[in-house]
Amino acid sequence: MNEYEVMVKNTPCNFMIKNSLQKKIFLETYGCQMNEYDTELIQAILAKENFAFVKDELEADIVILNTCAIRENAHRKVYGRIHDIRHNRRNGHSLPAGRQVDKPVMIGILGCMATNLRTDLLENRNLKIDFIAGPDSYKKLPDLIREAAKTGEKTFDLTLSEFETYSDIYPARKDGVNAWIAVMRGCNNFCTFCVVPYTRGRERSRSLDNIVEEVKRLTGDGFKQVTLLGQNVNSYRHDEADFATLIEEVSKVNGLKRIRFTSPHPKDFPRRLLKVIAENPKACKHIHLPLQSGNDRVLDVMNRTYTQKEFLDLVTEIRTLYPTMVLTTDIIVGFPTETDAEFKDTIKVMREVEFDSAFIFKYSERKGTIAEKKFPEDVPEAIKTERIVGLNEIQKAISLKKNRAQIGETHAVLIEEESTERSKTDFQGRTDGNKVVIFPAGNFKKNDFVNVHITDATVNVLKGRVVSS
Ligand code: SAM
Ligand code: SF4
Repeated sequence: MNEYEVMVKNTPCNFMIKNSLQKKIFLETYGCQMNEYDTELIQAILAKENFAFVKDELEADIVILNTCAIRENAHRKVYGRIHDIRHNRRNGHSLPAGRQVDKPVMIGILGCMATNLRTDLLENRNLKIDFIAGPDSYKKLPDLIREAAKTGEKTFDLTLSEFETYSDIYPARKDGVNAWIAVMRGCNNFCTFCVVPYTRGRERSRSLDNIVEEVKRLTGDGFKQVTLLGQNVNSYRHDEADFATLIEEVSKVNGLKRIRFTSPHPKDFPRRLLKVIAENPKACKHIHLPLQSGNDRVLDVMNRTYTQKEFLDLVTEIRTLYPTMVLTTDIIVGFPTETDAEFKDTIKVMREVEFDSAFIFKYSERKGTIAEKKFPEDVPEAIKTERIVGLNEIQKAISLKKNRAQIGETHAVLIEEESTERSKTDFQGRTDGNKVVIFPAGNFKKNDFVNVHITDATVNVLKGRVVSS
């Protein structure tokens, strides 16, 4: 018996399913695209077992939070939500909408936080969670829920698998334009700041045939674009097939127009892969290239396994093969021990590369990581703020310059939805390079391709008018 089995005996859950009627689930997702994708898997798994999904949390018998542990605030947010969910269900509690909700609710915690904060989630009695499942345990969810409901005790499965890829589950996808498809899961890189190798386990890839079959089914369902997903997607390998082969084979599927991928690691871009991306017409001309830092010593203590020069050489190689390739990045400011002079190297690389856009994060210590053990946080919050503000300003100017350079060009745009930025009579879609474009709707519809002439640009979007479809 392990320590957690003892906890199961002692921790009452808050809900007993009294009859076999279909139970309603409200499912909320935090974090990255992989979590969005996992939510689609979870929906497919639970829908098969007599669970239904509702949009109103207060109608639900079960609330599931699919959580993230990557950066700060993620766990505070989730703890706050657990409290709110319970609070909204107090018997006779009067809600803002004026409704009285007195039915009990089960709460389940899934995803990276489940594995990252397992001890607290299992042992903290104030949290009142009913079931917990890690990223490799979603097939066990129906049983975990039923068992918790039957026994009134907290249930959990946090086992990390070397094999689980969910390749036998067809996710319950919604948007109808882009289909996420995880081709590999887990990560072996152990960047010192990152929880992923601990929360999602070792790298494993799906077979080429299985992925191609799913893409065929997706195009049959009307999807024109797939985004290949993985924590370190370009380290994909199954038997003899590497990531370049995967893109080549997926691109042969009739009806598929665009292939995107995220998130790659700069160390896994052999020339053959770069050539496939540059030359295959279905491979989108956008590469997300997470830099994290521009300084060699910081890169080394982050365990990123490349130097500033190697990164810059890779950028040059990409631009030699395809000069207008859109490049985006992730940066962490204030990694422990990062000095002002070292931070300036990040500014230097940002200015030299001129990424089209960048996600810039303040370092936040993550439980269980190598950095937590080896590098105590020593960069004051005020310095981190100063660095992130400064870098964002620099990036904004670069993004604006790069976007304005597109004025006068015409781009093929896949329509995604009504624009969130302007009136409902506008549509928005993306260029091949993943830039958001807004234009008057006309007689087009979601999932159409149109050619848009770019007439204006801001830091975040291009604007234009359709010249042909
Ligand atoms: N696999 C990708 C790579 O190799 O860079 C990154 C995926 S990670 C899940 C997404 C981004 O979150 C990272 O690129 C990094 O910038 C950021 N991130 C991860 N851990 C972080 C931490 N402890 N503090 C701040 N940002 C972090
Ligand atoms: Fe995390 Fe990405 Fe590094 Fe893997 S490669 S440990 S997911 S930052």
